[in-house]
Amino acid sequence: MQIGDCSLVLQPSQPDLVLNVGRVTLGEEYRQKQQKFQRDKEKKKVVLAACALLNSGGGVIQMEMANEADHPLELGLDLEQALRELIPSSDVLQAFFETRQQGRFFHIFVKSWSNAALPEDNCTKPRICSVSSSLYRRSGTSTICLDLRQAYDFLKTQKRKAQNTLLNEESEHSKILRAMHQDIMESNSPFQVFQSNKIEYGHILPFPESHSVEFKQFSTQKTQEYVKRVIQEYIPAFANTGGGYLFIGVHDKSRRVLGCAKENIDPDSLQRVIAQAISKLPVFHFCSTDAQVFYEIKVIDVFKNENLYGYLIIVNVEPFCCVVFSEDPASWMVKEQQKIVKLNMNEWVAKMMNTDPDLPEAFESQLTLSDHPAYCREQVNHKTQLQQHLFPVSPGRWQYIPETLWMELSSQHKGLEELIHQQVHPASWGILIFSRSWAVDLGLEEKQGVLCDALLIAHNRPPTLYTILGDQDAEGQDYCNRIALTLKQKLVTMGGYTGKLCVMTKVLCLNPNINAVSLEMSSSQIHYPWSYNFVGTQQMESFLQALMIVLLGFRSLLRYQPEKNSYLSNFHHHSHLFVHDLPVSGKATMAMKIRDRNIRLYMEAEEVENVCEDVSGKTTMAMKIRER
Ligand SMILES: [Zn+2]
Repeated sequence: MQIGDCSLVLQPSQPDLVLNVGRVTLGEEYRQKQQKFQRDKEKKKVVLAACALLNSGGGVIQMEMANEADHPLELGLDLEQALRELIPSSDVLQAFFETRQQGRFFHIFVKSWSNAALPEDNCTKPRICSVSSSLYRRSGTSTICLDLRQAYDFLKTQKRKAQNTLLNEESEHSKILRAMHQDIMESNSPFQVFQSNKIEYGHILPFPESHSVEFKQFSTQKTQEYVKRVIQEYIPAFANTGGGYLFIGVHDKSRRVLGCAKENIDPDSLQRVIAQAISKLPVFHFCSTDAQVFYEIKVIDVFKNENLYGYLIIVNVEPFCCVVFSEDPASWMVKEQQKIVKLNMNEWVAKMMNTDPDLPEAFESQLTLSDHPAYCREQVNHKTQLQQHLFPVSPGRWQYIPETLWMELSSQHKGLEELIHQQVHPASWGILIFSRSWAVDLGLEEKQGVLCDALLIAHNRPPTLYTILGDQDAEGQDYCNRIALTLKQKLVTMGGYTGKLCVMTKVLCLNPNINAVSLEMSSSQIHYPWSYNFVGTQQMESFLQALMIVLLGFRSLLRYQPEKNSYLSNFHHHSHLFVHDLPVSGKATMAMKIRDRNIRLYMEAEEVENVCEDVSGKTTMAMKIRER
């Protein structure tokens, strides 16, 4: 992708999103010596890459060092500051970004943007990260660009207003506006000046700047360009903050009318430039109208000693019903795992305002008994319970899940057991989750020649996906990378995993002729920081909970055909159902809540076997049924 003349390239053959931003000068000492133009250009591409990765489940920014240094270098203060501006102010830089130098390359490891990182005390949770909101409002006598949190609050307020759910508050609000408007009409001033046709050069305006009045002087050069820029910022600011007057041709400290000398401007063409600039402002409606920004332009003749000296321009802007942007917000994403795309205004607002509960929340609430006794008992964490049921973590012990599949695989393929053992041996304990194809489990295309895939979740190791091939295959690594990347992104977007994460990959080859000699093809060459490893049971459990949601995360019953199964046909009146074929061919695991009975079911299709347990006074049933 080209941004100006700096290019961002997505690196292929990696199990992670790796954005190559090209050559960058690193280290505060070296960056200080750079030309400002070059420094800003580098900063811009790093920030853009960071924003795109934050919004796309995380990844790695790869830079080639443009300077020589005989000692390891840090990023540089300007780059750090620019990255810090992307994340919530309550967070430290290393919560989202870690750096590591590797020979001539320098890597920034970017964690996924997560709204969970914001304080829980209020519900403002922007869902995406942006370099700029491109949303301006008036604050006192200034025009400010809203930060992400302010932008989110403003969008929410405008949406509520449009939906008229704020009836009372709104009438309060409009009362204040009307009172302010009255003020303006009476004492004054901007309105009277706006009505007049001529004014004396040097006249001191009888009112100061305010939230609804801004004074600007004409610049001496490139008048039209300058006016366009002013319009782009101030007109949305007034429209988003109850309307106002923009005076162009007034000295802001002394309030003296200076105008613009008539030799320097053509008032008609300037009016056209202004009208055109306003018509280009992107507007977003929560209401059902398609209203545009309403404004009037007034050109007032400025006289000096009874002669026409020049012109004063005033733009009066009405309050806007919804939201006016200066331009599309500056926010990027990696789409379809290969393109870096700038979001347009509609996509951005949709992402910001997405009010669907996250899948983990929906999952949790579906599994929660509706009539919890609110007073005394501890809330049972059903997500945790289900995870402990399906993927129990037991420190000090190795588990191969599902056991039946592992037994099948190891008896079918001689040498597999030894091969796997060699791989997992360096770690002391953990879980290995087998599937005949993790690709199929995640909705990807399966590959011929793959005996099985196994996901390793082990103590002091990063999650690692193994693809075991029957024979050597050059495309094995790509296949394994593709699954790993998809899995990682689903864990973040669907499973709500908020930790630092990269699923490493390793391709193994089991050739029966060479009796379990493994052929390791090149795996990820980027050395990730230690924080990408599982250091404790808690971290492993939250990973497995996210994994479980990804695997169980089908929201409807549609996947199921009840007539196939007599047990399921009785369950037509439950509200929601999570169904998934676990990575075991021919078996299904479901978690459901039956609406009119306080029963929570864990189903593992195998055989009929009811297990009842008591959870906070309610009956909970774990049931195994035969499926096919
Ligand atoms: Zn509207």
